[in-house]
Amino acid sequence: MITKRDYYEVLGISRSASVEDIKKAYRKSALQHHPDRNSGNKEAEEKFKEISEAYAVLSAPEKREMYDQFGHAGIEGSGFRGFRTTEDIFSSDIFADFHSIFESFFGETNRSIDLRYDLRISLKEAYTGTSKEITMSKNETCTLCQGEGAELGSGTQICPECKGKGEVIFQQGFIGIIIRRTCPNCGGAGRIITTPCKECHGRGQVKESKKIVVNLPKGVDTGSRIKIKGEGEGGGKGVMSGDLYIFIHVEEDPFFQRRDDDIITEIPILITTACLGGEIEIPTLDGKSRLQIPAGVQNGKMFRLRGKGMTHLHGHGSGDQYIRILMEIPVNLTKEQQRLIQEFSKLETEKNNPFIKEFLNKFQNRDKEA
Ligand SMILES: [Zn+2]
Ligand SMILES: [Zn+2]
Repeated sequence: MITKRDYYEVLGISRSASVEDIKKAYRKSALQHHPDRNSGNKEAEEKFKEISEAYAVLSAPEKREMYDQFGHAGIEGSGFRGFRTTEDIFSSDIFADFHSIFESFFGETNRSIDLRYDLRISLKEAYTGTSKEITMSKNETCTLCQGEGAELGSGTQICPECKGKGEVIFQQGFIGIIIRRTCPNCGGAGRIITTPCKECHGRGQVKESKKIVVNLPKGVDTGSRIKIKGEGEGGGKGVMSGDLYIFIHVEEDPFFQRRDDDIITEIPILITTACLGGEIEIPTLDGKSRLQIPAGVQNGKMFRLRGKGMTHLHGHGSGDQYIRILMEIPVNLTKEQQRLIQEFSKLETEKNNPFIKEFLNKFQNRDKEA
C-alpha cells in the first residue's frame, strides 16, 4: 500500500485554511498540472489526481471534518476512494466549479457550443449500468462544404462593405464621435462567400437529428455528469465541435431509497413474526433475498446486507442495503380476535415489556424528585 500524503500538505495550505483559500490553492495547482498542459506526462497526471482528491475532501465540510478527526482512514470509511482517472475528475462535482475557468484558460476559443442533455434513468439502471441511445437535434458541420459555407472550389472575395477590414467606422452626431462596429455584412471575417453552399446556404452548419449512445457506468447518481467529447454543436470553418454533457437524473424507486451508495428498504412484518421470529423475503437490487428475523424484534430495527447497495462510482466495492423493520399493528379486529388479545394481555408480565417497565420507573422517580 502506498502511503498517502497529508491533504493540507498536498495543497500547501494550513489546517485552518478557509474554503476560499482551499479553492485558490487548488486552482493554482490544477492549472499547473492540468493534463491539457502536460500531455503524456504521467507524473503531472498523478499530481493532478492527488490535488483533486485533496480538494474534493477539504472542500466538502463533512468530509473535511471526518479527515481532520480520523485522517485518511476516516475518508475511506465514508466510501470515497479518490480518483482513478482524470476523466473521473472531470465528471465529478468538484470540477463543475472550475470547468469554465479551465475552458477559458486553455483558450479553446475556436470551439462550437457545448450542449446539455438531461437523461432520466431508473434506479435499477443506475445499479446495473447501462447504455442509452438518445436523439439530439443539433447543428452539425455541413458535410457538403465541410463547414466552409462556400460551394466547393468557389472561394471567397473581399467584403465590399468593409473592404476586408472586418469592421465599419462611422461618426455619430456633429461632434463626430467615432464608433467602430464589427462589419454586419461579413461578420468580421473581412471576406464573403461568392457562391454559398446549396446545403447549408453559407452557414457551414446544418440542423440534424443525431442518435448518440451514452454509456452509463454502474453507480451513477443524480448530479453525475458524463462528458462526450465532440458531440456538442458541430463547428464551421476552423471551429472545433463543442462537447455534450449528459446530466443524470435517477428516478425514485418504490422499494429502494438511496442514500449515497447505500440503499434503505422498509419492510412491514406481521406482529407474530416480530414476536416469534421467522424468515421473510425481501427485494434487493439484483432480485430477492431472505432475512432471518429474531424473536422480539422492535419496530424501526435496521438490518444490514453488506455489499447489496450501489457500486461506488469512484473507487471499488459497493454500498450496503439496510432493511428497516416496520411492525404492523393489526387493524379491524373481530370480536374473537379482541378477546384473544385481552386473554394474552392478562398473561403479560414486566419481563415481556422491558421498555414500558423502564419508562414507568423513570416517570415515578421524576414525580418523587419534583
Ligand atoms: Zn465586411
Ligand atoms: Zn454547406
